[in-house]
Amino acid sequence: MQVFETIGAFRAARVAYPTLGFVPTMGFLHEGHLGLVRRAKAENGAVAVSIFVNPTQFGPNEDYASYPRDPERDLALLKEAGADLVFLPTPDVLYPPGSATRIEVGGVADELEGQSRPGHFSGVATVVTKLFNIVQPQRAYFGQKDAQQCAVVRRFVADLDIPVEIVVCEIAREADGLARSSRNVRLTAENRQKASALFQALQEAEQLFSSGERDTDVLENAMRIVLTKTGLPDIDYATVVNAETFRREEPCSDNAVALLAVQAGAVRLIDNMPL
Ligand code: AMP
Repeated sequence: MQVFETIGAFRAARVAYPTLGFVPTMGFLHEGHLGLVRRAKAENGAVAVSIFVNPTQFGPNEDYASYPRDPERDLALLKEAGADLVFLPTPDVLYPPGSATRIEVGGVADELEGQSRPGHFSGVATVVTKLFNIVQPQRAYFGQKDAQQCAVVRRFVADLDIPVEIVVCEIAREADGLARSSRNVRLTAENRQKASALFQALQEAEQLFSSGERDTDVLENAMRIVLTKTGLPDIDYATVVNAETFRREEPCSDNAVALLAVQAGAVRLIDNMPL
């Protein structure tokens, strides 16, 4: 496994790989990330991983400074998972003085996370575009955990004619259903216990949907009740939207996804379930 901090050194090593899968991450890796790495390796023969806590996708009052970081541990995990190339730039490598270009995505990027986190998807689209240009992979692997992010990436890849195939991988969960996330380590013991309620709420919506319920209000209320009862009343959104457009519809379409964003103390948790 080779590790690079500069664009030039990464590019020089990249030419040795005719086919390359790519997994962009913000580090503090867990089984969710490692599943993407193993799948990318299996499907492409070689895999590049980036570790970069991207400042432009964090709002001014968000957790950029306190986002967990442990590059040494990450590199040991990546070696074990079979990573070939690792790109670990510092912020000034990707955003040198004078850098002034941003990618703005409309449509799917306008809803939900786009409303709650202004500028977030512009930061994501900008850094992912830059990483695609640097890594030049055939395929890039993303987690369903960030469902709207996947839709946003598909949108700008199509709109900008970027020659990368986007592969979406299923959500890795803890035994109690909590979606694995680098931010989970920052949950208090009490909130960690409560946090499985997100998965329970999504399952509740899924059961109602499976039995034929298409009233969006009913599905959303059912999720809210589970969250509130479990002691997670600080709900940013608990909604069911069209899985293509991320727009709310009443009644909801057969191709729907239930999505949650909940504040648990200092940690904002998101999760979702295609219905
Ligand atoms: P992050 O480091 O949180 O930016 O995530 C990097 C990539 O890993 C993104 O494509 C995420 O959607 C994906 N990912 C994060 N958590 C999970 C999970 N629990 N299951 C599957 N993929 C995940």
